[in-house]
Amino acid sequence: MSTQHPYRVLLFYKYVHIDNPEEFAAQHLEWCKQNGLRGRVLVAKEGINGTVSGTVEQTEAYQKELTRDPRFADVEFKIDPVDHHVFRKMFVRARKEIVTWRLEDDVDPSQTTGRHLSPQEWREALQQEDVIIIDGRNDYEYDIGHFKGALRPEVKTTKEFPDWVRKNLAEHKDKKILMYCTGGIRCEKFSGFMLQEGFADVNQLHGGIIKYSKDEEVQGDLFDGKCYVFDERISVPINRREDRVIGTCHHCGKAEDRYVNCANPFCHLQHICCEECETKFRRSCSDECREHPANRYDLDNEILRKREEEYRLEKEAGLKVLDDQTTQHQA
Ligand SMILES: [Zn+2]
Ligand SMILES: [Zn+2]
Repeated sequence: MSTQHPYRVLLFYKYVHIDNPEEFAAQHLEWCKQNGLRGRVLVAKEGINGTVSGTVEQTEAYQKELTRDPRFADVEFKIDPVDHHVFRKMFVRARKEIVTWRLEDDVDPSQTTGRHLSPQEWREALQQEDVIIIDGRNDYEYDIGHFKGALRPEVKTTKEFPDWVRKNLAEHKDKKILMYCTGGIRCEKFSGFMLQEGFADVNQLHGGIIKYSKDEEVQGDLFDGKCYVFDERISVPINRREDRVIGTCHHCGKAEDRYVNCANPFCHLQHICCEECETKFRRSCSDECREHPANRYDLDNEILRKREEEYRLEKEAGLKVLDDQTTQHQA
């Protein structure tokens, strides 16, 4: 039993019309809270985008509940086994878009989107000559892991992509474009935008990096480093054949791929930092931040210790649920 992961993370999205996002969000939040889920779900008139964590039982109930709705019947869930919740709370929010693009000319991915490539097709395409591989994520995500040969976008948020494309790729409209992101959602509109801009051959990795990693045949091949995720894990391993570290410690330059947030609450800069330098610099990005009177290093360590204890209890409770289920099945 001890090798089992009692919790799961679900990653999913669907572009589909939702009439009243506010009402849907309120009901969905209520259901999630009652059923012990934690995470972040965004809903808009154009669809749903979410990551949630819970015990195996809770996440299975969630999948059942969501797909009971005909609009979400064919939602694809990417499932990661974990030891405990990866969120502190449950949020469900109604937004204008499920990914913030704010395009002048909005794209409906159910009408206009690039060709979806399976993990096997993607792996093959990556190795073709004369293709342009675009990392459809932000620069700090690229810095700890990306596909070999991918362009590093100079963007901090998705909204900045249109300008970046117009500045950097305008001469390559006839080239084969390959784009990818974490779970596939960002490429749905991004590839549609590129088609609108006149790019002829636009392709996207179906299910993103996460699904690519789970595919039994490709096993994350040709991906270097780790994949940044927007939950407490911060990053997850992808390439099951070859484990390389991409990125360097902000202080000592050693190969490293762990992100920390600067302990000076007025700075809070997310930076790559090795364990040694974390202690030495009290998890700060600079000497000024290390010496700052509001530095939270000791306080945060105390919170972390408490949280680890909480996680240990959470895992034990989760395993007990699994045990009880097994006993019930056997009975
Ligand atoms: Zn270091
Ligand atoms: Zn700082």
